[in-house]
Amino acid sequence: MNMPHAICATLVFFFSLNTGVHAEWMAGTARIKITPEKPVALAGYASRIKPFTSIAGDLWAKVLVLEDETGKRAVILTTDLIGVYADMAPAIYEGIAERTGIQKSDILITWSHTHSGPRLTLKERTSPDSANQDRDNSIEYTERLQVQLADLVEVATRSLQPVTLEWGTGFASFVVNRRQRTEDGIRLNPNPSGHVDRSLPCLKVTTADSKLMAVLFQVACHNTTLGPQNDVLCGDYSGFAQKEVEAMYPGANAMFMTGCAGNANPYPRGTMELARKHGNEVAMEVDRLLKSDLAPINGPLKTAFDHAPLTLQPPKSIEELESIATHGPNWLRGSAAKMRDALSRSETLPSHYEAPLAVWQFGKDLTLVALSGEVVSGYVLATQNAIGHRKLWIGAYCHDFFGYLPTAQIVRDGGYETRGLFNGLGWFSEQAEQDMVQAIVTLAKKVGREFY
Ligand SMILES: [Zn+2]
Repeated sequence: MNMPHAICATLVFFFSLNTGVHAEWMAGTARIKITPEKPVALAGYASRIKPFTSIAGDLWAKVLVLEDETGKRAVILTTDLIGVYADMAPAIYEGIAERTGIQKSDILITWSHTHSGPRLTLKERTSPDSANQDRDNSIEYTERLQVQLADLVEVATRSLQPVTLEWGTGFASFVVNRRQRTEDGIRLNPNPSGHVDRSLPCLKVTTADSKLMAVLFQVACHNTTLGPQNDVLCGDYSGFAQKEVEAMYPGANAMFMTGCAGNANPYPRGTMELARKHGNEVAMEVDRLLKSDLAPINGPLKTAFDHAPLTLQPPKSIEELESIATHGPNWLRGSAAKMRDALSRSETLPSHYEAPLAVWQFGKDLTLVALSGEVVSGYVLATQNAIGHRKLWIGAYCHDFFGYLPTAQIVRDGGYETRGLFNGLGWFSEQAEQDMVQAIVTLAKKVGREFY
């Protein structure tokens, strides 16, 4: 039947009101291969400085652009990378805003934290001698990546089509706490009785003709099945998981986000075979969820973005810092030396770190909390206590790769996750936990979450 356009739109509108189940979402997705083409060092283990020797799996950047019934657009970018540092992000946000009009507050830049991907840096190029060529390659790679991510979002916005959104939560069994208590303090070894978040939340995006367009899933575990001996480039378990899901659902993008994984490693770990095995477990669980009865997600989408002023420990004396730099735990020595040097030059150390975070509210159906940094699993408990347990997806490793974010208890107990800012200019205080939780509560109220 032929009908004027306006009438069509009106009928659709009434249909939505009457049924209450039509989410009226639009979505677009795109991906780009970001496997380095030149020799670069692998990121994540300081001891490893030589370029990768071979490739076991390509690296990808993928994007999901969502548009709700009011026309509001939001972007989730996932990357098989160690992390997006604060100095890398502005150019990406600006590129996306220029090309699509979508602002930083509506963009989640996330990463899988693979320790088998390229080292990222924008630090100045050194003299053009061959010893530094790998480092210059890393700079070139990072600069290119900034442009590629903005391009990718633009491509996805050109292919928006009607979709339905659903979500559900599964389980990942290989996630194990890595803070072992020993006579000499906390060590980086498996601690099976320690807390971790083993949930595997999953967002399903289905086209009007019932095809899977994209699936976004999350595991709260370091992508460190492969240890410092590995020199083969790949996405670790999450890279293999994405590839396997995409093979099961041709044409769909499988996208991986990292949860509060700061204190969690895969178990067991150490070989490529285990990385594939954990990837297979994730892929099978995602497939099970995709075939199960998931909860529908209605709109509209409300987003809020801000910075949590996380309190840093007050500066110690130059003498104390000197002592830690010489005799302290390995993970504190570098930052102690850096702070000692800064104080020696009469510089002022920061009292807070402004950590970005976002909270997205999907109708009355789901709240997505997206924290920055390497957040430990205690923040899952703290967030649930503060804003309720239900209809909640707590992600981390978004926006800004500034360092580990420990809970107050971990600050008191010590260990690797207390190493502070990667720039070496501060250690988080016990107060930082409350600072972050307060910021989450404020944003959750702003977007209208009901505290279930
Ligand atoms: Zn890490």
